[in-house]
Amino acid sequence: MIVLVDEATARNPAAEKELFDALGRFPGIEVRVHRVRGAEKTVTEVYLIGDTHRLAVEDVSVLPGVERVVRVSQEYRVIGRHKDDRRASGFTYNGVEFSQDSLRVFAGLCAVDTPENADAMFSALASFGQTTTRMGAYKPRTNPYAFQGHGKSCLPWVFERAGRHGIRVIAMEITHESHIDEIAECLEKAGRPTGVMLQIGTRNIQNFELLKTVGRQTVFPVLVKRGFGITLNESLNAAEYLASEGNSQIVFGLRGVKTNLGDPHRNLVDFAHVPVVKRLTRLPVCIDPSHSVGSRERAPDGVPDLMHVTAQGVAAGANMVLVDFHPQPAKALVDGPQALLLSELGWFLEDVALARAAYEKRRALALSHAAAQASPAP
Ligand code: PEP
Ligand code: MN
Repeated sequence: MIVLVDEATARNPAAEKELFDALGRFPGIEVRVHRVRGAEKTVTEVYLIGDTHRLAVEDVSVLPGVERVVRVSQEYRVIGRHKDDRRASGFTYNGVEFSQDSLRVFAGLCAVDTPENADAMFSALASFGQTTTRMGAYKPRTNPYAFQGHGKSCLPWVFERAGRHGIRVIAMEITHESHIDEIAECLEKAGRPTGVMLQIGTRNIQNFELLKTVGRQTVFPVLVKRGFGITLNESLNAAEYLASEGNSQIVFGLRGVKTNLGDPHRNLVDFAHVPVVKRLTRLPVCIDPSHSVGSRERAPDGVPDLMHVTAQGVAAGANMVLVDFHPQPAKALVDGPQALLLSELGWFLEDVALARAAYEKRRALALSHAAAQASPAP
């Protein structure tokens, strides 16, 4: 059961505590408080865990300070959509909005290598007014002898340079809980020139202790990427782990799944699941065409496969695109073959805008169809 606290009570700590205490007095009930930061206000949601089936919605809704009570009927208590659930989707971080209606492109380096390449990337982004990027510092690699990322040592100059170019959010994978503190400390020392969205990669999606730790902090939002060898339901449960621990500033990422039926792409592209994730949850959905397709190959029409699948995902309503670029892909230390060139950034963004416009028209068409069905002409 979810209890939404009314605004006046949420602004009054004493009144709020009284409500939490009252909720905690219901037998067999554990109370978990979530603060959801939106663009205009912070919403306080209280999750009642335990014997809630013995609890009547009416007994909870009459308590002072309760705005509304939602009975959770299906899976994904926190991130899911429930009957009469009018909770908002999405969040705002460092001035950037993420929701099921917005679209953000995170073009950047798969792995940070040199300051020159990071600078070239940031400058290219700035020239197109982009304020979000990807920069991997901690790289989970299949081969133990492969480059593992510069780790903590590159963070000061990455953050400082990103800030100088107006970057507000960097998606950065972490592979161990200690990386959260390293990122937080470096950001603090640098004077918070930018922000970070922590990324849980496909290989760590069932690292439950990591999920719990990341979920317990609410400083950084989280991009959680679908597991490449597990079901969608199992992957969404990873997002629920984060949310159940208190952090519901989550974006869910599709990045292809492992099966030879996807050959010759690196993974089988799964962007048909964009609307599915939006229906099952209130999370903004990201697509990662780079790790799905894995190459810069072009179709006979001249469009790279990578852009074709991006357009498919965006036309289906994706809210974020995570995509690899590199100034010199041949020299990239990680995933060079799938990186687009900086000279292709403008083209890529224009192609995304076309697909987004198509999505907006498709959405309007669906709405007008529904309206016509609801009130058929006499
Ligand atoms: C990445 O985005 O750099 C990455 C390693 O992705 P994934 O976890 O999806 O393989
Ligand atoms: Mn990669």
